[in-house]
Amino acid sequence: MGSVPDVDVLVVGAGVTGIYQLHRALEEGFTARLLEAGTGPGGVWHWNRYPEARLDSESFTYGYFFDRTLFDDWRWSEYFAGQPENEAYFRYVVARRGLDAYIEYGARVTSAVWDEATGTWAVEAGNGTRVRARFVVSATGVLSIPVFPAVEGRESFRGVAHHTGLWPDEEIDFTGKRVAVVGTGSSGVQVIPAVADVVESLTVYQRTPNWVTPLNNEPITDEQQEQLRRDFERIRDTCEQGPTGFMHLPHDRKTFDDTHDVRQRFYETMWRTAKGFSKLSSNYLDMMTDPRANAEWSAFVADRIREVVDDPELAEKLIPDHPFAAKRPPFGTRYFEAYNKPNVELVSLKETPMVRVTETGIETTDGHREFDIIVWATGFDGFTGALTRIDVVGEGGRVLRDRWSHGVITYLGAMVPGFPNFFIAGGPHMIAGNFPRATEIMVDYITGVLRYARTNGHTFVAPDSEASAEWTDEVHQAATIPLMAENSWFRGANIPGKAREYLAYAGSLRKFRERMDAMGEQGYPGLTFGTPVRA
Ligand code: NAP
Repeated sequence: MGSVPDVDVLVVGAGVTGIYQLHRALEEGFTARLLEAGTGPGGVWHWNRYPEARLDSESFTYGYFFDRTLFDDWRWSEYFAGQPENEAYFRYVVARRGLDAYIEYGARVTSAVWDEATGTWAVEAGNGTRVRARFVVSATGVLSIPVFPAVEGRESFRGVAHHTGLWPDEEIDFTGKRVAVVGTGSSGVQVIPAVADVVESLTVYQRTPNWVTPLNNEPITDEQQEQLRRDFERIRDTCEQGPTGFMHLPHDRKTFDDTHDVRQRFYETMWRTAKGFSKLSSNYLDMMTDPRANAEWSAFVADRIREVVDDPELAEKLIPDHPFAAKRPPFGTRYFEAYNKPNVELVSLKETPMVRVTETGIETTDGHREFDIIVWATGFDGFTGALTRIDVVGEGGRVLRDRWSHGVITYLGAMVPGFPNFFIAGGPHMIAGNFPRATEIMVDYITGVLRYARTNGHTFVAPDSEASAEWTDEVHQAATIPLMAENSWFRGANIPGKAREYLAYAGSLRKFRERMDAMGEQGYPGLTFGTPVRA
């Protein structure tokens, strides 16, 4: 690797964010490349190939808005499309924009080292690829590092075992098999009903029950598809101007503004017809701020679980004791119904903890069960996991994982003090909400910074320490408002030893967009630009 940069911009990761960043960098006339660990584009939609993996953002609000023709020429088959369709969508976008020529697949970035003398990053991937870049944009995703429980013997199991987030690109036949699913987050909630009909037996290992409400998915008819095309601007503007990046409009009332009967009717509508996240984003305004309001909705959902599940004792085990959305709520399809099948068993790990995995099955304190297939639906090292696994070495040889070991610090979620010319598009401190709508704000901001630097002849940009401390404080302040994700991967709670802090920015997406968009006119406050680079 020479000392002259090979490219202006190196993007890491070909998920929804990295593809858009690559497009924006090229569009601006920068030389750019993208390194991707997987064998194809799509990020989470490349890796999470487990049965029934599907969106819970409406498909047409998840795809890109930057090119009207991409929207018009693609047909979503369902409100919430499944993994194969989502992956095909990203292949379509990459092909349509001619991006493949700039992407190297099978290149998992292992290190990025800042070279103060030249003001460039030396980046290396596991396949031997080395790139020297003026700027690096990490688009490594917030859910890209799967985690397994630290249980004895896990690797000794001789049957088929896969993590939902590392699912192989081959058909796994569940027919007539004895199957274990460990974990009841969004992934487990999708797998369980998907395989329950065909397996010989299904044992669900549940540590914490979840508030699963119906996804209420439906096919998109030809007429609806035509309407979506006509509504492009309205859809885009509604997502961009809403507080969460979804189409769902906020409710105009608080819970106890309505009588008990009116509330129950509203909840009933939410349960029966409201799609995906609208159970959260269009619920009563105080649902996430007033514990009594949250308890009211939670009690309604608990009653629905009792209604659906035939065995009353089992129903109680499936009802959470945390507030709704204290963990990121899954949206399911016939999830609780699966437990009425005689071949489906629930093992509560709270009552009977897992002891070990054996060559033939799983042992808990109440005994050993044998399996042909184990599905580990046990989650991810969220937000920071991908970045802390890369040796990102900044000024003075400081490593990013050490910088963050006692808590994350960023500037606007986009940069870290001490790591010049290194951007993060979709990582810790990013605005929470419909993911592509949130990360496109970051990509647009980063692209604006790059353009500004070029226009003004700068080859160096770094965030100011004071501005970074202020922003990080704002992230923490914003997180004190909601009940949201009290005990979830949003706070690093699923990773032993990880600092407990809210890892996203809980502000309004619309306000954050306005704020980020205005930065350019203000000369990008909080950043120091320079030329030549520091000696
Ligand atoms: P998750 O929400 O973190 O759930 C992991 C599950 O595994 C939890 O039930 C957890 O129990 C359990 N678990 C973890 N460690 C365990 C251990 N040592 N022993 C026993 N059980 C253990 O992970 P996920 O379901 O993969 O979902 C992660 C995120 O991905 C979601 O929140 C969502 O944002 C996204 N996702 C979205 C969709 C979609 O619908 N579009 C689908 C899948 C995933 P505890 O709760 O007790 O920790």
